[in-house]
Amino acid sequence: MARYTGPVCKLCRREGQKLFLKGTKCYTEKCPIERRAYPPGQHGPAQARRRKQSDYAVQLREKQKVKRMYGLQERQFRNLFERAASQEGMTGENLLVGLETRLDNVVFRLGFAQSRSQARQLVRHRHVQVNGTLVDIPSYFVKPGDDIAIRTKSQELAVVEGALTSRTRPSLVEWLTLDQKNRVARMVRKPTRDDISAEIQEQLIVELYSK
Ligand code: SF4
Repeated sequence: MARYTGPVCKLCRREGQKLFLKGTKCYTEKCPIERRAYPPGQHGPAQARRRKQSDYAVQLREKQKVKRMYGLQERQFRNLFERAASQEGMTGENLLVGLETRLDNVVFRLGFAQSRSQARQLVRHRHVQVNGTLVDIPSYFVKPGDDIAIRTKSQELAVVEGALTSRTRPSLVEWLTLDQKNRVARMVRKPTRDDISAEIQEQLIVELYSK
């Protein structure tokens, strides 16, 4: 699957808010959003002053923001949306729950990595087990009752140790439990909309894809 390999801070500046794509730097004054809170490029400052956006532009920006926040490509995001639409309940909420329960996001939420891209790399490089089996698919959906662990050979990895002891590590979400010493965790229940604190207006994404 192709990946975006360009400068990630540009993505935050394009969306006009911090997407926390770079780990520790995002929490310091070195974050470019702190100094240049306007879109990147020659016309960036002018775009920031521009008049009201159309409904379509607002919906598109919300979709792009969420897609970039979770590090997905358009096709993956669209597939996830279609899966959410085919499930019972609210499509927008299903979409967010789907994003949150991806294995790369769970590894990030557990604090084994400082960003979702770092978490994805841990998974791809076969450092993560689910229920005792190595899983190297970042899009794998973790289910309630699943045990997630850093495999024994990788327990001392500097990247995991650095993330777990980082001062900027966010507090653990309520739907996961963690035995930090043994690098073992469990999903105790499915996340709900209330567990997802990010400022996301998922109904805008539903409106965009329902056109
Ligand atoms: Fe975004 Fe982090 Fe870069 Fe700031 S430092 S612009 S939050 S990726």
